[in-house]
Amino acid sequence: MRTKNSEKKSLGIGIKRTPQRLAILDYLDGNTAHPSAEEIYRAVSKKYHSMSFATVYNTLKTLTQSGTVQELTIDPDRKRYDPDTTLHHHLICLTCRKIADMPGEIAVDVPRGVARDFTVIGNHVEFYGYCAACRKKRKTP
Ligand code: ZN
Ligand code: MN
Repeated sequence: MRTKNSEKKSLGIGIKRTPQRLAILDYLDGNTAHPSAEEIYRAVSKKYHSMSFATVYNTLKTLTQSGTVQELTIDPDRKRYDPDTTLHHHLICLTCRKIADMPGEIAVDVPRGVARDFTVIGNHVEFYGYCAACRKKRKTP
């Protein structure tokens, strides 16, 4: 636990490491489920009873602003959070809203006219469909 927290020092450069932030970072560390604020609150408040939803929400905002976590808007119902801030893309299951990672770069060509007027520094591609478990339930090939 100690090692995990000290490793996070480099993750949260420039932000104070309050107990609340550390608890949330600890939950998010290595978490690939892309949880929502509600899910993070439910999990963290089990261990830290004094943790309020507002604290979780505000902490996530700070962690997003400092670039420690990534905020995803792929789920139209709620923002989802990703501790993996390296370049990768996402797939979402339209039935269960599970979000999976799609690693690596995807070559997207920006038309010349756009490139002239706008300096593109990155992209994020969102894929949607059905996960294996939901596909099985739907009994579709
Ligand atoms: Zn699914
Ligand atoms: Mn991700």
